[in-house]
Amino acid sequence: MDTKKENESKIEAKDGRISYGNLLFYYIENNSSFRIEELMGYDALILDARDHDFTRLIIKRIRTHYNPEFYLKPVFLLNVKPTKDPLINHLHDGIIYSFDQVPELANIVRQIFLLTTQLDYNLPNSFQAQTMKKVFNFMHTRETKTLRPHIDVNSIVGYTYPELSVSFDDREEAQTLDILEWAEKEGLIWPDFHERIYLCNNCSSGFLSYREVCPHCQSSNAKSEDLVHHFPCAYIGPISDFRNPVDNTLSCPKCSKTLRHIGVDYDKPSVINHCNNCDNNFQDFYVKAKCLSCEQDIEVQYLIPKTIYLFKLTKKGRSAAVNGLFTASQEVEDIFGTIRPEVMKVMLHYEVERMRKNSALKSSVAVFHLENIYELYNRIGAKSRKNLIIELMNLVRENIRPSDYIGLESAATFYVSMIDTDPAAAAATANNIERSMQTAIHKNFSAFEASIRHHIEPLQIGTPVDAQLQLLAKELFN
Ligand SMILES: [Zn+2]
Ligand SMILES: [Zn+2]
Ligand SMILES: [Zn+2]
Repeated sequence: MDTKKENESKIEAKDGRISYGNLLFYYIENNSSFRIEELMGYDALILDARDHDFTRLIIKRIRTHYNPEFYLKPVFLLNVKPTKDPLINHLHDGIIYSFDQVPELANIVRQIFLLTTQLDYNLPNSFQAQTMKKVFNFMHTRETKTLRPHIDVNSIVGYTYPELSVSFDDREEAQTLDILEWAEKEGLIWPDFHERIYLCNNCSSGFLSYREVCPHCQSSNAKSEDLVHHFPCAYIGPISDFRNPVDNTLSCPKCSKTLRHIGVDYDKPSVINHCNNCDNNFQDFYVKAKCLSCEQDIEVQYLIPKTIYLFKLTKKGRSAAVNGLFTASQEVEDIFGTIRPEVMKVMLHYEVERMRKNSALKSSVAVFHLENIYELYNRIGAKSRKNLIIELMNLVRENIRPSDYIGLESAATFYVSMIDTDPAAAAATANNIERSMQTAIHKNFSAFEASIRHHIEPLQIGTPVDAQLQLLAKELFN
């Protein structure tokens, strides 16, 4: 018998590890404690999905991770119950009912892995671009080309795009609409009308309670009744004026005649509304929407209209996963005290020329990467994001000499020159920068643990600066 085939047909389950052929599956039991780092080295994950909240939590934790090694991991659900939650329904890679089905998963796992190897892993410059790049990477490895909106009661706007929305808290869903708008402007996605929605103009919630209210006092405590016009005497009044307490007949309060046939001796020209709160009669209600999230009561014409689109990837969008994402808008422009990496290259080039003249000069250059800072950026919103970048760059500035410069590559990556600084002093400075950023973030953002890495190299005379910076970044990301 073919030995390969024999090995493949054997499923071994042991301590949360399931091996099949050369594939290793990690098995997460319901409500078990799970650290995402444990996934390292596994090809896929099987999740006991009997509990909705636990399943959602694990899927969210994996798909929001900044490291592609984790967020692209194939996830299979076991024991899943029917749910309407789009985050559960659209971010897994298959459903099984027993471990006997593991062989059926092997091809899916291999295909996803193969597509993963085609991806470009350079980090784009802006927050929006990094967020969309993750979406494109996921879509490429799952071979989908449409970003589809799903009705979702967990989303504050009522709709969710699972591949993108997973990166945001339910309450921040309005931000996904902003990012999609940006991606459309960048020509990455193409919109197809799906639905029109209205959001609270205070908190962007889509959960609104629409009511007809009194135009005088805004109370919704009102009743409507037919207006009756009695032809013989021309009296017009609400129908309750014509009723008597004894029977169903209507008689005119003005001329006391009994009303006979509608259209013949009387008519109902319209309705009249009566407010039980302020006792006014009026013809037309106002329509107001009360936001169920922030409780603001809003006249409907002041709601924010938004269109929900089904998005298709454009050619540019499709190639973003494999060839990288290049965008026009640079979020990290004009951060005071920093320069663009291209400018930094020129300045470092002059520094190398200076070193060539004087061999005693020693300079270094460092690169820093804030690995999980986008989790925090996601949380705090666009405006605070820019302020945080400014704050962080100020911290860097405090740790270096006035003659040194900061080259800001993206909202998560930057270079620092350390001119006339020997490697030991440069290492100490870099450690100080890292520590002061971690402390500041921890203190200001409810104990957020920033994961920061850096790498330093002495500036070389023999190698072009371009190549040196490239090598530096490569060392950091390896
Ligand atoms: Zn009223
Ligand atoms: Zn009458
Ligand atoms: Zn609101």
